[in-house]
Amino acid sequence: MKEEAKKVLKKLEEHGYEAYFVGGCVRDWLLHRPVHDIDICTNAHPGDIMKLFPDHIPTGLQHGTVTVKQDGYLFEVTTFRTEGVYEDFRRPSEVTYVNEVVEDLARRDFTINAMAMKYNKELIDPFFGLEDVNDHVIRAVGDASRRFQEDALRLVRGVRFASQLGFQIEDETRKAMRDNAPLLIHIAVERVREECNKLIDSRHPDKGFQFAKQTKIFQSIPLLQQLFDQSTMHLWRLQTVESVIHKWVVLLFAADFSWEQSRELCRYLKMSRKEEETITFLMQQLMLLQPLWDQCQSIDWTRLIMKHGLERCYDLEKVLDVLWWNDLSNKKITLQAASDKMAVKTLKELAVDGSEIRKLSDQKQGPWIQQTLEYLWERTVTGELANESEALLIAAKDFIHGEKEHP
Ligand code: ATP
Ligand code: MG
Repeated sequence: MKEEAKKVLKKLEEHGYEAYFVGGCVRDWLLHRPVHDIDICTNAHPGDIMKLFPDHIPTGLQHGTVTVKQDGYLFEVTTFRTEGVYEDFRRPSEVTYVNEVVEDLARRDFTINAMAMKYNKELIDPFFGLEDVNDHVIRAVGDASRRFQEDALRLVRGVRFASQLGFQIEDETRKAMRDNAPLLIHIAVERVREECNKLIDSRHPDKGFQFAKQTKIFQSIPLLQQLFDQSTMHLWRLQTVESVIHKWVVLLFAADFSWEQSRELCRYLKMSRKEEETITFLMQQLMLLQPLWDQCQSIDWTRLIMKHGLERCYDLEKVLDVLWWNDLSNKKITLQAASDKMAVKTLKELAVDGSEIRKLSDQKQGPWIQQTLEYLWERTVTGELANESEALLIAAKDFIHGEKEHP
């Protein structure tokens, strides 16, 4: 564990408090996985913690959490607590402090997340989490069904951990997931989406998909459940996709979603406007390109770049690479090659602009200016016309005066 975090534990211990590393960081440390955030739990109350660590941020006092700064690093220090009464199948906003670390561990979701570790590496493991870590098993702490009824987000967390860690879900826990799946409707959709993002963007999505199908945890969001049920692709290929948005597109397309359904799902999950637009655009393009691909024809990237810009085409190429990976690659003209060949890559690079075109005619300002620029661009792209203002203006005059038809 990080030396800076150890200093925080040591200081609390030196002042007579109990203090432990707890939760995900202990799990990940035992699994030799990178530890990304370190949580500490203690019997010190927030007031004591703030006094002991003047450099702090009171990030979640109502939950008993103080963020402590130590040598430039931030650690969440939380007082041992239970969660009181759960309402509406969500975690409560009120908490109760307790004296024993074991009581604090009992409120946690899965045994692998319910371990605490002392400064001297002694493990506090009342629910046999280490055994489950070693056996690669996800098991609810205590009565699984009750735990999912307390907080239905745990349904998705369980499948997400299976997906990230490549673990199995223990039978009772899995059965309880299936039984309580309808409760997910009570959870804010943003939180479900964040868990889904982690699930999709994980090392073992095949596991996540397997359990999502078996337990039907997403049944209260039918389109989402459909995405998991209908997925036919080789999920390991998702690993080669960098961005989670592109992963969504690959999955949606592989599950035979239309672009309209994809957009509906984005909206339901309250994705950002930009994410929704990217996903919808890519789904539309994939559908347009599918017939070409079926006939083993190559893609006219030049035309696509002209229509949508290079950035969006890069996005498109990335998802195509995954979906059509077993293509005849020697036949494929890459986007890069097409872009390299374009003498003028954007309309802005043309040696003339709209104001110069406007002077060529007495007509009022209107779409004709843009049309002329596009005509010039099309001819310069192929190298047929030089990108020099004199040549362009002559060609533009011809075009405006009707000697050349607009393509
Ligand atoms: P991650 O790698 O995503 O950070 P994590 O296990 O650390 O995984 P966090 O959301 O950071 O997950 O939560 C920290 C710890 O708090 C968990 O390990 C678990 O012990 C507890 N916890 C978090 N969310 C819940 C929940 N919904 N129900 C019960 N315990 C939870
Ligand atoms: Mg964490």
